[in-house]
Amino acid sequence: MNNKYNVVLLFGPPGSGKGTWGKILGMMPGFFHVSTGDMFRMLNVESKLGLRVMEIIRKGELVPDDITFNMWQEHVKNAVFVGSFRPQKDVLVLDGLPRTKPQAEMLQSVAAVRAILKLDCEDHEILIERLHRRAVLEGRGDDANEAIIRHRFEIYNRQIQQTLAFYPRDMMAYIDVTIPPVRILAAIGNVLSKSLTSMS
Ligand code: AMP
Repeated sequence: MNNKYNVVLLFGPPGSGKGTWGKILGMMPGFFHVSTGDMFRMLNVESKLGLRVMEIIRKGELVPDDITFNMWQEHVKNAVFVGSFRPQKDVLVLDGLPRTKPQAEMLQSVAAVRAILKLDCEDHEILIERLHRRAVLEGRGDDANEAIIRHRFEIYNRQIQQTLAFYPRDMMAYIDVTIPPVRILAAIGNVLSKSLTSMS
């Protein structure tokens, strides 16, 4: 495929702020944010697929790769169709995809990865605290239960090495999410201004 989507990937454990920073970037002209978690949460739970996906999310498991990728592709195509994402001009900010090596492989067929931001936090307890807060503010069931949160961390730790290994090391920018938000914003801006300049 010649016309690959230009993509920025956001990685990080649950509670690291992928969604927040993805949304912030998505508000800038020339960027379009897609969160696979949000995409799944918008499914109609009365449909067979919606119910199946909700069950998986509730347990803190991963949705199967083929379902995830096909749904993501449809979602992006739909955004192109309605004009909210213009592949020739906009950069796609992906939060939550890829989460596995097979997803990274499938993504490679349609996307040119321009930058990778890995949001990091050594101390899981800080992230758990944030997730509890989000559970209250956003009513997310998968953030409320301690055992499920820990299971999501386990899955993240299990998948992240293989997924990241798919990409060149020098493409990765590590950002400590415990520093003040303005400094995170500056760090992200710095990485993107360098890695995306050659595109224009
Ligand atoms: P998030 O909003 O990124 O925390 O995602 C919430 C949940 O959606 C995850 O715990 C998974 O169950 C599911 N999910 C999101 N993205 C993916 C993905 N790329 N592959 C499989 N499952 C996903």
